[in-house]
Amino acid sequence: MASTNAICNLCNQTILELLDFKLLLRYVTGFNQVELITKNEYELSQDELVKLNNLVARRQKGEPLHYILGYKEFYSREFRVTPDTLIPRPETELLVDKVLSIAIPNARLLDLGTGSGCIAVACKLENPNLDVVAVDKYSDTLEVACTNAIQLGAKIKCILSDWFSNVDGLFDVIVSNPPYIAHDDVHLGSLQFEPQHALTDNLDGFSHIKQIIRGSIAHLKKGGYLLFEHGFEQGEMSRKLLHNAGFIDIETIQDYASLDRITLGKYTLRNSNASSI
Ligand code: GLN
Repeated sequence: MASTNAICNLCNQTILELLDFKLLLRYVTGFNQVELITKNEYELSQDELVKLNNLVARRQKGEPLHYILGYKEFYSREFRVTPDTLIPRPETELLVDKVLSIAIPNARLLDLGTGSGCIAVACKLENPNLDVVAVDKYSDTLEVACTNAIQLGAKIKCILSDWFSNVDGLFDVIVSNPPYIAHDDVHLGSLQFEPQHALTDNLDGFSHIKQIIRGSIAHLKKGGYLLFEHGFEQGEMSRKLLHNAGFIDIETIQDYASLDRITLGKYTLRNSNASSI
């Protein structure tokens, strides 16, 4: 019979969700998914056991699994994540899908508030013809994005910039997953481990979206697109803001839960002022 420190026994006794626990076990032992099954009588060393117990305790206190592991899968690639970056969400993959479907050949793409770089890097890897610029306001965050770009082999340009403050030139597509959660949204309570400045504007959730729309008018080529992620109750207002700013072909895309999640529009005017937003 396997001893109490054998993988199969530890899995039976865990207080965590089994999937989380198995990922922590893999992290500690270095085993892959198959080895975890074929070597399930493997007995953890004292060192491994101490390490595992520490990780389990962190997870129990609510620290997101992916900060503990240090990576999150997005668009079938592993992205490094740290407390300086949001953990990429599956619905954000829909932003990548949409960018890829609207980008003309050799399009210039700007990703605002890139965080881990997941949107910019995934777009570049899926379509190497794109000329991709990724910006973030925080240097520690931008460093994570650059590291991901290098490790995953995506040749993109990373710029330290507060939205458009250090951005030059015009783009065919501007994309963003901005901080859109309102300050009084109860949802924020469960996201305390993630960088708050990447989640909320501490206001009504629209201040950054408005800034991005205003800035896009000055940085989109004629016929270029702006698309951004937003909260499930922000679709109507997002469409209105784009309409008031002179965008056309405005559309809201729903996520896997059929909730409004992404709004986009095309900009065909030049020299429009954004006084109405
Ligand atoms: N989609 C994230 C969430 O609701 C928030 C991301 C963001 O504010 N940009 O958990």
